[in-house]
Amino acid sequence: MKCYQCISPAMYTVGEQNIPLCLDCYFKFSQIQQQELESLERAVNYSSDEIAFATGMPGFGAHFPRFPPRPKPTFIQGVKMNNISVQNSVIGTINTGSIGTVDQSISALISTGQPDAAEAVKAISEAVLKSADLTGNQKNDLIDILSVVAKEAATPIESRKSGVALALIDKAEKITGLANDITDICQKWWPALVAVFTAATG
Ligand SMILES: [Zn+2]
Repeated sequence: MKCYQCISPAMYTVGEQNIPLCLDCYFKFSQIQQQELESLERAVNYSSDEIAFATGMPGFGAHFPRFPPRPKPTFIQGVKMNNISVQNSVIGTINTGSIGTVDQSISALISTGQPDAAEAVKAISEAVLKSADLTGNQKNDLIDILSVVAKEAATPIESRKSGVALALIDKAEKITGLANDITDICQKWWPALVAVFTAATG
């Protein structure tokens, strides 16, 4: 069953009509629900204040405690990126740990004198995160692969696992091949990454 909002497979149903939603869309749906609940709770607090004021009972609030602030929903933000330029809104439910690893590897590539590899990882990562043609799962797979490949590229040639990296790049290229909106960037930058590892083995 497909999600009512997008092309991902559904994981949940919501409402009386049992509308199917995928993980990403359900995540947004529950955030909206939580915000609505917070508004209702504030309205209850306001009403109890009004009752206390009207009845002149100063201790009212102590007997009817106010709703404490609810814990904030887990927004994926605040991950400091030194290289990858990306908006919170496009990160969505992507694993920020892996994005952080990719970002650190870009810094390592720059400091080890591999500006082309650094630029390739940065360009592909940003394209993947922004692509409207890739699903959340595909983006997660790609960022995971990029985090491993970028780390290997930043490793000294003698201990670099080039075969593994090339196999992963091959897999990643097949996934990005499904995204028409990033074809140009991928055609330009995947070969630059492949070159890092073929130069080492060749
Ligand atoms: Zn969806």
